[in-house]
Amino acid sequence: RSLGENAASQHSATAEGGLAPVVASHYNAIEEKGLEAREDSTIVILRKYNNWAKSMNFNDAMENLREAGKRYNDLVGLDLCCGKGGDLRKWEKSRMMRHVVFVDIAEVSLANCKERYEEIYRKYEEQRRRRGGRGSAFFTAEFIVLDCTKDSLKSKLLNPEMEFDIVSCQFSFHYSFESYLQAKQMLTNATENLKKGGYFIGTTVNADRMVKRRRQCKGDEFGNEVYHVRFECNEPYQTYGARYFFKLQDAISCPEFLVHFPTLEQLATKFELKLLYKHPFEKFHELHAARQDARGLLNGMGALECYPPTSGEALRFEEKQYDHARKYV
Ligand code: SAM
Repeated sequence: RSLGENAASQHSATAEGGLAPVVASHYNAIEEKGLEAREDSTIVILRKYNNWAKSMNFNDAMENLREAGKRYNDLVGLDLCCGKGGDLRKWEKSRMMRHVVFVDIAEVSLANCKERYEEIYRKYEEQRRRRGGRGSAFFTAEFIVLDCTKDSLKSKLLNPEMEFDIVSCQFSFHYSFESYLQAKQMLTNATENLKKGGYFIGTTVNADRMVKRRRQCKGDEFGNEVYHVRFECNEPYQTYGARYFFKLQDAISCPEFLVHFPTLEQLATKFELKLLYKHPFEKFHELHAARQDARGLLNGMGALECYPPTSGEALRFEEKQYDHARKYV
């Protein structure tokens, strides 16, 4: 058993603070090996596919905001559980962003994210200078270490009143489903400063698919040489705290939690979020495969080989345009 696993099994899912410190130390220990090593990894195609799904999730939200009258360099974004900044280019690509707040519990990952941002910023602004200052400026950014499932983000923002057009939580929301209080804090952080009509977008693990696989294999574990899942909870599943241990070669080895979607949807309405879509990756793929831009990107990213897609889900919620004050649960 790895260190992470031992620490995880010693923690009770209901212990104060939960498993977040275990998750944080796992991510902090992952070495940043650079682009070349990532290209050599066994899971490179999987990564590319996931990146494509995330790009579509981002592009569509930005396109809708553009159609609603937003201009270049006009939007403010929040990247919850940003990791090492895997989505920096996705924020940048549209040229729509003015400012983005990056947040993660793992301080080493966040420091990597900041370094990557500064490098891209420097190159971008140098090119802009060479063009005589033409084109939109690169977005500004701030970086905050935070357990999004335990602490409040608002008071840590440079401007606590800033409002977000897009809040993104990619491949991370499942960590909050350890308990009701943690899911509630995550949604508070996602929505507290979300503009009316703004979007909360994300990708997460497909819980239905996981449960189905467990039943098919008639045991608590399944996987192959690339990934492994071991359930650490009994059936019937709890709404919160349905824990499993997930290993993905070259990437992940830590406890995670199934997101019980009807519960999330119900909780989200209390935060005045309306579900716009929740698509398993196969469906998401089908919907986008007909579009030339999406097909082109999938091809260009070299992710076309990863079909059928892995068991993720793409989500988009919209801040309902209510006039009355927010209600909290
Ligand atoms: N969003 C990034 C991406 O798509 O490339 C990173 C995804 S990585 C699978 C999950 C991230 O969630 C890690 O960086 C981890 O540190 C972060 N995370 C997990 N639990 C967290 C929590 N309670 N608060 C903040 N970040 C958390």
